[in-house]
Amino acid sequence: MKKFFHFPAAASILDRPGTGSVFVEENGRLKGMLRKLLGKVEDGRFSRALAGLQASWQFEVGIRVFGKSGVKIGGHVRYGSKKYTVHIKSGSVYTCTCEDYMRREVICKHIAFVAMAELAHYAAERSAHRQVQEARPIV
Ligand SMILES: [Zn+2]
Repeated sequence: MKKFFHFPAAASILDRPGTGSVFVEENGRLKGMLRKLLGKVEDGRFSRALAGLQASWQFEVGIRVFGKSGVKIGGHVRYGSKKYTVHIKSGSVYTCTCEDYMRREVICKHIAFVAMAELAHYAAERSAHRQVQEARPIV
């Protein structure tokens, strides 16, 4: 855990949901980054990612870090027998292991899906008055 990343006391979160903590600021950066990314997704790929959400594609979070230099998310997108590895970082940095990304370097449906899944997770945590937790790979 990095020094700047302070956990406010649990009571303070419950007392004042959504106000003032370092957490809220970091969550805001995560949300802002993902919304910005989704704004750049081509319409067809955006629709296919939405359809994936509807079809219960899974995003297995491998890493979710709120760092000094920005936010970093990575993990696997799975559906049927398919599995792709997606990474998203602040500053419009993103990668996927699928052919669409490899050939064209576009924001593919998997990257878009991860952004949607993370935003959905963020929204669910927020409505439960919880903060989005960091996740780190087990080494
Ligand atoms: Zn992809």
